[in-house]
Amino acid sequence: MLKKLLLVCVLCLHALDGHCSPPATSVPLSEAERSYLAQLGPITMCVDPDWTPFERINEAGEHEGIAADLIQQVALRLGITIRLHRVRLWSESLEASQQDRCQIMSFLNQTPVRDRWLLFTRPIFSDPNIIITREEQPFIADLHTLRGKTVALPGGTMVEERIRKDYPDLSVIVTQSEREAVTMVSERKADLTVRTLIGAAYAIRKEGLFNLKISGQIPEYTNQLRIGVHRNHPELREILDRGVATLSDQEKEIIWNRHVSINVQQSLDYRLLAKIVLAAALVLGIFTYWNRKLSRLNRELERLSITDRLTGLNNRMRLDECFDREIQRCQRYPRTFSIILLDIDHFKQINDSHGHQVGDQVLIAVANCLQGNLRQTDVIGRWGGEEFMVLCPETDLEGAMTLAENLRGHLAATAMPPAGQVTASFGIATYAPNDQPQDMVSRADRALYAAKHAGRNRVHSEPTPSKPELT
Ligand code: GH3
Ligand code: MG
Ligand code: MG
Repeated sequence: MLKKLLLVCVLCLHALDGHCSPPATSVPLSEAERSYLAQLGPITMCVDPDWTPFERINEAGEHEGIAADLIQQVALRLGITIRLHRVRLWSESLEASQQDRCQIMSFLNQTPVRDRWLLFTRPIFSDPNIIITREEQPFIADLHTLRGKTVALPGGTMVEERIRKDYPDLSVIVTQSEREAVTMVSERKADLTVRTLIGAAYAIRKEGLFNLKISGQIPEYTNQLRIGVHRNHPELREILDRGVATLSDQEKEIIWNRHVSINVQQSLDYRLLAKIVLAAALVLGIFTYWNRKLSRLNRELERLSITDRLTGLNNRMRLDECFDREIQRCQRYPRTFSIILLDIDHFKQINDSHGHQVGDQVLIAVANCLQGNLRQTDVIGRWGGEEFMVLCPETDLEGAMTLAENLRGHLAATAMPPAGQVTASFGIATYAPNDQPQDMVSRADRALYAAKHAGRNRVHSEPTPSKPELT
């Protein structure tokens, strides 16, 4: 009821009347007409129960659609009450109408067959038949120009009969329903179809056939929909006809717009979605691949920047870093730490006698021998030329001496053809409070020099300075 009141107000507003009650278009009835209607009582109406968007009987058993709104409007203006004759099928409505169990039929074309038992009002609504094609096809001014094209049409309809007769050059494909005809065009199985404007607009939106368009009109095929009144009630036809006459084109447009401009939730385009997901996955894949490759390259770069290229040991830069860290640790905590500096004996002679390449091989072999005989916590690196340094965390002078002696023994015992036996001299220094790296290096260097001086292939240490006296 609220909906109907609202409708009246909307229509009034659109008619620019400026006020709603009473409607300016109310139909004045004579005394005789009023008493006729009073005697008739509520008017029973038959409808098509399934003809969306024109009309249907909804789940609640109510009449709804374009026809329902138009007729309701007419009824309001005439002050009559209409009662719906509920059916499930259109054929049931036709039968009830023929038997005068319903006095009026809501919305139908006038045909010679129907003229037998019905009288008709003037058209309450016109709906042109239009030509539907796919979007890419050009505008069609005249169907006669389309030789050999295929047109899909529901069988047994007025349109099918007329197209066959009026346009013999078109090849007709008969379908079971209007919907099937439209789908055939959308799916390129037919070139065109002919359908009512409202039906087509509704179907295109509702079924999401957005590759279709209206390519032309066939004015002579326009549906003229009227109220049918049983021949037993000619006075009623006169009264209804006057009510229908009051409906303006604007009012009709508002009503049909309301039913055709339905809000249809568009179905998800899964193919498009799949493409987007695939593209995103591809981009993500490439991104992840490059990211991994980049971080692998970065790690490799970092490794190279701290590695001695010839021996594969830590380079001088890395040794310096580790040295600094150990010094800082010893400064902060009560820890100890030693370094071993070693220098290959008479290396110049190896180069001179066997060539630089053999010299390089010897450097690699010495590096491997040293590394293979260290503890895991020790850090070894190439200090420069044929000199190496071992950083020994948590190791006092005595421990470092033992380690160095061990290394020296292994080195001397490892044959390095063609150079033969290779030995080295070792200098050791242990951390003393307030030491900086260069202090320890100087002491280790002096010890190394002493080892060389003492005859090489030996281990020497420099005494660790005692704690500075507190003053
Ligand atoms: P000492 O026992 O007194 O240490 O004598 P030494 O011959 O080992 O010492 P010296 O400093 O006279 O010579 C070191 C040589 O090491 C000189 C240099 O050419 C060589 N050398 C330095 N770096 C490399 C290198 O990367 N490859 C080769 N093959 N030789 C190198
Ligand atoms: Mg040297
Ligand atoms: Mg040397």
